Parts: sequence; structure tokens; C-alpha cells
Amino acid sequence: MADSSHPAPKVTPFMAQYLAAKAEHPDALLFFRMGDFYELFFEDAEKASAAVGITLTKRGQHGGEPIPMAGVPWHQAENYLSKLIRAGHKVAVCEQLEDPAEAKKRGGKSIVQRGVVRVVTPGTLTEEGLLDARAANRLAAIAFNSDGAAIAWADVSTGAFETRALKHNEAEEEIAALSPAELLVTDADVQHVNEAARITGAVLTVRPAVKADAKSAARRIKAAFEVAALDAFGDFTNVELSAMGLLLDYIELTQAGAAPRLMPPRRNSERAFMAIDAATRAALEIERSVRGGREGSLLACVDRTVTSAGGRMLAERMSRPLTDVAAINARHDAVQFFLDSRGRREGVRQELRAAGDLARALTRLALGRGGPRDLASLRDGLSAGDRVSARCLGVTDAAPAEIGRACAALSLSAHAESAALAQTLSRALAPDLPLLARDGGFIAAGYDAALDETRALRDDSRKVIAALQASYAEETGIAGLKLKHNNVLGYHIDATSKQAEALMAPPLNARFIHRQTNAGSMRFTTTELAELDAKISRAGEAALARELVLFKDFAARAAVLEAPIRAAAEALAALDVAAGSAEWAEETDATRPEIDETSALLAEGARHPVVEEGVRRDGNGFTPNDARLDAEGRSGPRLMVVTGPNMAGKSTYLRQIALLAVLAQAGAYVPARKLRLGIVDRVFARVGASDDLARGRSTFMTEMVETAAILNQAGSRALVVLDEIGRGTATFDGLAIAWAVAEHLHEANKCRAVFATHYHELTRLADKLEGGANAHLRAKEWKGDLVFLHEVAPGPADRSYGIQVAKLAGLPKSAVERARAVLQKLEASGGSARVEIVDELPLFAQVMQEHAPSALEAALNDINPDHLSPKEALELLYKLKAAAQQDL
Ligand code: ADP
Repeated sequence: MADSSHPAPKVTPFMAQYLAAKAEHPDALLFFRMGDFYELFFEDAEKASAAVGITLTKRGQHGGEPIPMAGVPWHQAENYLSKLIRAGHKVAVCEQLEDPAEAKKRGGKSIVQRGVVRVVTPGTLTEEGLLDARAANRLAAIAFNSDGAAIAWADVSTGAFETRALKHNEAEEEIAALSPAELLVTDADVQHVNEAARITGAVLTVRPAVKADAKSAARRIKAAFEVAALDAFGDFTNVELSAMGLLLDYIELTQAGAAPRLMPPRRNSERAFMAIDAATRAALEIERSVRGGREGSLLACVDRTVTSAGGRMLAERMSRPLTDVAAINARHDAVQFFLDSRGRREGVRQELRAAGDLARALTRLALGRGGPRDLASLRDGLSAGDRVSARCLGVTDAAPAEIGRACAALSLSAHAESAALAQTLSRALAPDLPLLARDGGFIAAGYDAALDETRALRDDSRKVIAALQASYAEETGIAGLKLKHNNVLGYHIDATSKQAEALMAPPLNARFIHRQTNAGSMRFTTTELAELDAKISRAGEAALARELVLFKDFAARAAVLEAPIRAAAEALAALDVAAGSAEWAEETDATRPEIDETSALLAEGARHPVVEEGVRRDGNGFTPNDARLDAEGRSGPRLMVVTGPNMAGKSTYLRQIALLAVLAQAGAYVPARKLRLGIVDRVFARVGASDDLARGRSTFMTEMVETAAILNQAGSRALVVLDEIGRGTATFDGLAIAWAVAEHLHEANKCRAVFATHYHELTRLADKLEGGANAHLRAKEWKGDLVFLHEVAPGPADRSYGIQVAKLAGLPKSAVERARAVLQKLEASGGSARVEIVDELPLFAQVMQEHAPSALEAALNDINPDHLSPKEALELLYKLKAAAQQDL
């Protein structure tokens, strides 16, 4: 706390007010409203200044020390807020709760009442400017007890609210799946989630354990959803209640009274999703690429949605593929519906482009933070929804269930009041809308008689003023006399110093009242001008007040229609996802996968969508490949060992197999000529591990920790892809580990697995195992260079071509030749006496000397013919000839 270093100093009433507000929110920066500024004091000022460069100044004294202070103008507050939130801070916004004039009435010394109206934290944002339009912004709360754990999460910006019961060891995976902006946990449990918060980048907010008390949580949930019993939502366990209570308590705290508008909690059954742990998400680059951003990820590659809400729903689906065959098929049906008719798809996408972000607009309106543009989003969303549903259902063939459901939610004819609201808004809103309601001017002319009247009054008076300019010019005989307006003086006469002389001399000075002298000009008014000005500003105020009444009225009507509007928003998103997926499928020749309960994965002509995009961009073609796996060994091997040189495409092939499962079960089509997939309940991918220095683990340690997780968790429905296990230690150790892992997968886990390796010994093992098989990526040598075919063929690779790849990478020629020599020697010795050959081979330095280039060779090497003029070339030729003669 900022004042702790100042023992009980005498404080002014103002400082006392500040310190009280700060004491309530010790872990947030306090934005303290003073007139047109939000001021920060003490350490808050220093932190904000350090984080986002707000100028640090000083003001007054506290405990004998000057008080550090930093301020931001109120109209720029959102900008600074967003930077501070991104820098990991929370901000408590303390507003003036009354007009300063009110305070004055209580006596000269009274200070304006202030109070914290909201704490802005990463997980509780609602403002368009602070949110990523295409990503959910989740606030999650996790609770543990002896039976298990539970996670509850909400997206305050859209009202989504879900809970899920977990086993203790699933917590990290679930946090990775949700990737929350902020994670709540009690002080008693924080050690269980430190690591997960670090990996996902979630801001960890620690709450006192009492906030997770199950009994008070139940009370809190009943109050929030105005129900007498919780049974309607599901049969929650105590630990689920704790998580929900923790969440709701925090939302109430941060929203300071403004009731959060959440949908009733949706309970996720335990086995509904494909489990994907954090390391696998990273390796497969599902939502983020290795570089950390969305660009280069699977999601960015397949996303063709045209609305933000559609983008968010697709992200959600990609991050949590399903495991229920019927539910997955329902999604594929919806994609097919839009693939079957391009006209329908394009029509719907066209309409969707005009739909705003319904869910977020509605939340802002309900929280009293909305603006006229949010009303426009409602209007656009609702009416686009109506047109979309007409387009989908205006066809004779029966629509699939998911489409039918969405259309029912969208059809305005089914919701008379939403239809009425949409129509009224269409008439009411002006074409150009300000950001804030208090700026006025957003209600269209002709909508409201009272508003039109005050506006007419204002405009008529303005016309009178315009006429006054001419009449004053005539009256005074000053031809260029001007009437102007500014915010301080209102309407006034703006005279040059010379013109002013006449106005200040009798008889004109009786009528023209001097108001202000500026450099080069003087300002005057008249009684009638002042009266007109007052009338205009009264009319302006009345017009604004009327607009604000209308605005509140619309917001209230929207709040009443919350349930159907939220349902419509979700329906629009679902249609956007289906139509967008169809669009992508057509663009990339993706096909509908066949999903069943077998344990097979049979792919023909499959591609890696992201790598393919990159390869295409470079003007090359991507080579499609097949894959056959079956845990029960009926239609393919259980374990496939893949060999081939570096750069041949092994890890692309591995990831491609895992991505087929992710895409298919997320409900998308797959980039393959054909795919038959038995449900995968867990996918594990370890591809291209790297040192995790932040965790203090070497590559090898990280790899072993991750491998341990796989061997311990993969069941018969899992799909495992492992790349080069056992690097980073001595060859024999590495081989031994890789060997054991491969056997364990085959014998104990008995799941579908693809294992890429450089240990050729393992290809023998694969031949021996009853469910094992070998495949390799083809490469061939052509004119001394290695050519990658990126083609998967049965059987093991004949060689690993490491030296050729090193040559391609640009290793110096001398090193390449030396490596060849060492390899020859090693191969000749049969690998049995590796240590001895070090003694047998002549040392590198000797060989280098034998091969050292002559002066002439060195000179030739230095020449870059492209940079020589003909004259220089000729001169060089003479020089070289002279040098050659000297060498001889
Ligand atoms: P490895 O794991 O064998 O070292 P990668 O999978 O990293 O090889 O592939 C190396 C590069 O080869 C990729 O970045 C990509 O450009 C290209 N590549 C991989 N697979 C294919 C393919 N099937 N068709 C075309 N190019 C491919």
C-alpha cells in the first residue's frame, strides 16, 4: 500500500478519500478522477509511468514528502487502460459521483464524492477497444478439493458461462484449452496452477479461500440467476460450486454493482472433448504459431469467417474438438449444407458481413457502457439474422439440424419483440453515429417529435444568428464584422482591434458589450445575442437529454430481450463458422471425413494445411501423402516408425496426421482426398522440442517429462505422434530410450502412434513388432546433391543423408569432406570400435593444410563477376595471369 511508508501523517480530506479508495483495491492501480483527468498517486503513478510512459510529476506533500503523481486526460483513458492491462496491471476506476457544484452547496471545504465504479482487469473487459474481436476473453476460476477439481469460466464480454468437473491432473490441460486472460484461484490452491498460468500467459489473481466456500457460492449463484434452486442448471458438486462462487464473487467485485449479464451456467460433461495438452497445442500450432501469434497457426489458416463472433466460435471449436460421433457429424452436415450450394453460401456470407458483434454490444448496453454504435450493432445483427435465416430456409431441401436450429433462433418472425426493436432502431438511428451517447446527434430526424421540436428551436435560433451578422454589419457600418462561436463564450462578435474602436465608442458601446480582449482581436456580445445563445444552448441540452432518454430506453428494451438476442448471436456465429468452413473446404479441396467408433486412421492424399500454404507461397507444390494406422491392427499398423533425412518432411508428416484428427473432430473438413477416422480421445504431439530455459529444463529434460506424460496417459483411443525421442544424450542412451518408448507405446498403451527417428535400429524393431510397420520419406541423390521428394513410401530409409543435408545447409566444403572421410572410416569399422578410429584418422589440421587453397585460388574465390565492369574484368584477368606466372 502506497502510504505504508508514511506512518500516520496528517491527511487532508481529499487525501483521506483517496487513501480509502486505494485501501479497497490494493492490488490495482487507482485511476482517481479529478475534473478532466484521471490521476494516479504514489507508487501507482510510478508504476504507470514505468509501464506506459505517463509523465511523472509531483503534487503537494504527504508525510513530509512530495507526492508522485501522473495523470491521463479522461478522453484518452481507454488508450492508457488498454496498455496498462496488456502490461499485466489491473486498474480501479474511481469516478466523481456528483457534480462539483453539488459539493459546493454543502459548504466551501466539501470535496466531491467519489467511488470506485469498476476494476478493469484482463479477464473482465467489455470495451471494443480493449478486446480482440476474434478471440474470446475468458475469466476462469479453478477450485480443488480432495475428490477432484473444477473450473468455471465466463466471457464477460459475451455472457458465456460454463463449468466443468476435472480430475486433479487434468487441470493444466484444461487451462491450456481455455487459455484464459485471467485465472482466479484461492491462496490455498495457488501452487497447483502457477505453472499452467505461466505457460498460457494468464494473469493469475489470488483470492482468499473464503471466497470459494461452496455454501455461499450456491447462494450467490441463486441470487445471480434469480432462481430458488440450482437443480435447473445441473447437479453441481461442491467443488464446481466453489469454482463458480469464486468467479461470480470476482465479477461482482470488479463490476462494482453493475450486475454482470451471464447466461445460466452450462455444464460440460467430462468426456465431450478431445484432450490436448499445452505442449501438444504448441507443437501442432493450433491457435498460435511457435512465434506466439495467431499468424501461421492452424486457426489462422482455416479461418474464413466474416464476423468476429464467428471467428471466436471457430477458435473455440479448434481448441476443443469433440469426441461424440453424432455431434461431429452434425457439424459436418452444416458445412456440407453450405458446400452444396455456392449461391446460398455467398448470399449468407454477404449478409453476415453486415452483422455487428451482437453479443458484445448487448453486454455493453446491459452494463451501461454501451454507445450508439452498439445499438447499431443490435439493429444490424438482428436484421441480418432475419435475412440469413430466410436465405437458409428459403430452399426446398431439408436443412440439417444445426442449420435449422440456428435459423429458428434467428427468425425475427418468431420473436415479435426483437423484430419490433430491430425495426424501431432502423428508423431511430442517424446515419453517422458518435462513439458516445453523450456526444448526441445519433437519433435520426423525424423519429421523435419532442426531439425534433427542440432541435428545430436550436436550428431556428442559429438561423437568426446567421441573419444577425448581416444586420450588425449594416447597423455599425463595419462591413467585415463576424459572428463566431466557441465553447467558452458561446456566440459572440469577433472584431479586429480597428473594428473594436468603433464598437467601444459611443453610441455603439451602449449596445455592444465588451467580453474579452485577445491578441489581434476583441470579442463582444449584445443582449439579444446572449439571449439567443442561451436559448440555443438550452435547446441543445434539452435535445441531448431527450436523446439520452431514448438511448436508455433502447438499452432497457435490449436488456429485456437478452435471451433471444444472445441466442441469435450464437446462431449467427454458428452459421458463419459453417459457411466459412465450407468456403475453406472448397478453396483447399478439403473433403468430408468419415467418423466412426473404430480405432483406425486411414488417410489418402493428405496435406498439412499450414505448410502447404507456405510451400505454395514459395511457388512449389505440396506432396500429398497417405497414412494407415489402426490400434486394433485390422486395417493398418498400430505403430509406424518413420525414417528419412532431415528436411525430408518427417515432422510435417507427423503433425499433418495429428491435425487431420483435430480438424475432423472440430467439425471441419480435412485436407485429404479421403479420411476415415475412428474417434481420437486424446492427441499427443512432441515435435521439435526446444530448451525451456524459463523452466530451467534442457531440451532433453523437457522431452523426457513430456514423454513420461504420454506413456502414463495415452489410452487405446489416443493418437500419438513423436519426433526424434532421445536426442540430446549419448547415442546409446538415446537409442535405448527411443527403443523402450516405441515398445511401450506398442505393448502397453496400444494406441495409434507415429514415431519418427534417426535410429535405424528401430526400423528393425518395427519389423519385428506385430503391430509395427516402417515408412520413410523418399529422397534421392542427383548429380551429387540431395533431392527431397517429400513422399512417404513403405519400408525404412536406406540412409540418413546427414552429410548431404549439412552440405545443403552451407557447411564449409572442407568440413563436409572431412565428415565424409570420418563416416567412411566409421562404416568400414562396422561401428564396433568407435573410439579407436579417432587415433587412426589423421588430424583435421593436417588435412586442411594439404587442401589449403593457393593464392591464385583464393584470389579467384574473392571475385564476384556480377559486380565487375568489362574494363575491371579485363584488368583482373591481367593481374591473375601475372599472379599465376609468379606461382609457377
Ligand atoms: P524433417 O522433419 O524431416 O526435418 P520437415 O517436416 O521439417 O522435415 O520439412 C522440411 C521442409 O520440407 C518443410 O518446411 C517444407 O517446406 C517441406 N515439406 C515437408 N513436407 C512436404 C510435402 N509433403 N510437400 C512439399 N514440401 C514439404
